[in-house]
Amino acid sequence: MTASTQGLVCSHHHLYSALARGMPTPPKMATNFREILEQVWWRLDMALDLEMVRWSAKLGALEALESGTTAIIDHHASPNAIEGSLSVIADACAEVGVRVACAYEVTDRHGADGARRGLEENRRFLAEGGRGWVGAHACFTLSDDTLDRVVGLGQDTGAGVHIHVHEGPDDSEAGARLSGRTDDRWLLAHCVSLETELAGTILHNPESNMNNAVGYANPVRFNNAVALGTDGIGADMLGSFRAAYLKHRESDVTATPDAAWSWLETGWDLFPEARTDAVSWSYEPIDPWHLAFTPGVRPIEIAIDDQLVFADGSPTLVDGDEIRAKAAEQATRLHARL
Ligand SMILES: [Zn+2]
Repeated sequence: MTASTQGLVCSHHHLYSALARGMPTPPKMATNFREILEQVWWRLDMALDLEMVRWSAKLGALEALESGTTAIIDHHASPNAIEGSLSVIADACAEVGVRVACAYEVTDRHGADGARRGLEENRRFLAEGGRGWVGAHACFTLSDDTLDRVVGLGQDTGAGVHIHVHEGPDDSEAGARLSGRTDDRWLLAHCVSLETELAGTILHNPESNMNNAVGYANPVRFNNAVALGTDGIGADMLGSFRAAYLKHRESDVTATPDAAWSWLETGWDLFPEARTDAVSWSYEPIDPWHLAFTPGVRPIEIAIDDQLVFADGSPTLVDGDEIRAKAAEQATRLHARL
């Protein structure tokens, strides 16, 4: 017996983090959010080349499919392999059959030239017809000038901006700096301690926020639409829904799974094509109260754009074992650099 849904959407992902698992222990124990960035993610993204970006995207797309997720909103950083990186990700996802919307993470962490090249990668990709948003890291790594350019490119392209907001204490000025500058197309990731009202959709990442010990964003306090992301911890959106429900419940014993389920559904407003995708599941009924207490629900068959991309537990367009093997080779190269 099966039940079906439309394709699930991961509204905030970092496909480049798919190769991070098993990376060497950082030189120094990270004791706060800033140190987690410095010790883990900012060392990892510096070491990426385009071949690693390609196979991490394929692995991430494969794992999305294996979780019934047919559309990914990605946020990418590879400071030493910027040019063409968004196309590499888009092509890798297309090969697996998964929909993706890309963004390149503009930041001043690598000087004015790094910021310029990041902006240019967003501009190039969108101008060539790529699907996505203009990406920016977070206000605390953006100068006023660079932030102006990000806002301007978001307006000029009509794409809006995908940015991290108030993920940790370092970004406490983000609300003030973005006030009056965002619009409904913007994607605001995390917003853990955001007190300012900003236009845009809030991307809630409960698993990542717990992993970084940054606190609970408590998304019901916002008037904004709220969508669910993983922030790079895979693309298992039923798992993400369950984590979102449990965090909500932990803060309010009267909370029901319906709120977290509505955040999952917001993904379809951001990526409407996923509504035309069909996923049949190993469990029925597909109902928030059931799924909140039923781990391990798997897709049986997935059609994206009327094409069968997943059947009998395997992808149909690619060889899943080959992707895992090639990604493991790239992970070994990456970890050696760290
Ligand atoms: Zn993120």
